[in-house]
Amino acid sequence: MSIKKVTQHPTQNEGLIFERSQGGRVGYRLPKLDVPITEDILPAELRRDDDLEGVPEVSEVDVVRHFTRISTWNYSIDLGMYPLGSCTMKYNSRLNEKTARIGGFANLHPLAPEEESQGALELIYKLQEDLCEITGLPGISLQPAAGAQGEMTGVMLIRAFLDHRDGEASKDRRVMLIPESAHGTNPASAAMSGFKVKTIRATADGLTDMAHLRELCSEGGVAGLMLTNPNTCGIFETDIKEICETIHAAGGLVYMDGANMNALVGIARPGDMGVDVIHLNLHKTFSTPHGGGGPGCGPCLCSADLAPFLPTPKIEKDGERYHLNYDYPGSIGRVKAFYGNFGMMVRALSYIYTHGNDGLKEATEVAVLNARYVSNALKEAYDKPFESDCMHEAIFSHKNQSKKGVVTLDIAKRLIDYGFHPMTVYFPLVVEGAMLIEPTESVGRADLDAFIEAMIDIDREAQEDPQLVINAPHSTRIGRLDEATAARKPVLRWKPDMETLSTAA
Ligand SMILES: *Cc1c(COP(=O)(O)O)cnc(C)c1O
Repeated sequence: MSIKKVTQHPTQNEGLIFERSQGGRVGYRLPKLDVPITEDILPAELRRDDDLEGVPEVSEVDVVRHFTRISTWNYSIDLGMYPLGSCTMKYNSRLNEKTARIGGFANLHPLAPEEESQGALELIYKLQEDLCEITGLPGISLQPAAGAQGEMTGVMLIRAFLDHRDGEASKDRRVMLIPESAHGTNPASAAMSGFKVKTIRATADGLTDMAHLRELCSEGGVAGLMLTNPNTCGIFETDIKEICETIHAAGGLVYMDGANMNALVGIARPGDMGVDVIHLNLHKTFSTPHGGGGPGCGPCLCSADLAPFLPTPKIEKDGERYHLNYDYPGSIGRVKAFYGNFGMMVRALSYIYTHGNDGLKEATEVAVLNARYVSNALKEAYDKPFESDCMHEAIFSHKNQSKKGVVTLDIAKRLIDYGFHPMTVYFPLVVEGAMLIEPTESVGRADLDAFIEAMIDIDREAQEDPQLVINAPHSTRIGRLDEATAARKPVLRWKPDMETLSTAA
């Protein structure tokens, strides 16, 4: 048996787990079988007669070290600030994790009968009550597994409501108005629900152009509007009440994308502004982990008019008992197995309870304060495309640096060399070379200052030595990827190197 050369240095160029394979190594051994394998225990067609070829043969310590080493290459919210805009990346408190691991919550089977799930149902019910209070909207479903799915659920509610209200005539009401700056999931949800998207222009201040909105409404057929508030430029839509009234007068409904609720919780309620439907992202505003696209929760909330169409089952309270109600004939149906991702609900309620009324309000205020601090500190070095004060995220463009050939992507890559996760780049599309920075309330003054200093240093480098920034990052394992090829032609399968395998055997 030949021992293959695998780099042993703990931080450099860790090979694939397959490349660590050494014939005969095992990480776990089962006790010897002490019963005969009969047909009724294990039918012949279920027994394998081949060897497990191509499976890595590794010991427990090989496995642990391999994955621990790889894990250290990841940037994570536990390592440092994550200034992504639009996608609130706040710290995930350990207390939430502890709560979610309580045996009665973590081990409860989703098919356990109602009588044995009272605690879990109560928790879902209480979270629903709190989210309704926070948004000012009485209807809710916690089923959707992400913001995008909550969004799609909300648009389906609008569709179901219009079909119910207008009958046959509903087919003439298929226009969904969406601002240019919207997140891509907005037009996607609208198109998938059978609506035609018309784009609303923004004003020079980054707000919805009211004149254009009225013009589009007068063209008729308006089913609704999808609006993010504060919008994706980080600016509060001050005309929101008038916007809602205009859409309602045209016979449509207002969908608010709630991804930016971190600027509003405890201060202002979308329901009070005239919004009919909203989604929340528990993994943004309510501090549950984002995961790798993993189990999330994107609650959909709505007005009393839309509530009969919400997904079933609904969790309801009858005296002191909680129960599941499937009896909503107008419901759009289930959008997710069981009741959604329950673990996220435990974490979100834990977040709400640890903060309380005052704490939630304070978190919002600090999130806005931190963004304004960054916005103000960087406005000399970086072009600030809109005059008005930002809410929870600060927006800049690369205008000052691009004169030297340094663009947003270069600035983001250089930030990695300074030890920071890059900000959101090239979004929203309405600002050329956009950089969207959302520090969140989880960052202290010292960390904010370090980030600001790094950004100012990068601007100086861009002016004095542009190549340094253009060729960044200099400190990472891999420099710049061919991202298009990586996305279009990903290599997803490891193929065994036959020669090595045969010499090893
Ligand atoms: C994050 C985000 C979404 C989508 O939410 P997911 O939970 O990622 O599916 C929609 N709109 C905006 C503005 C967002 O920032």
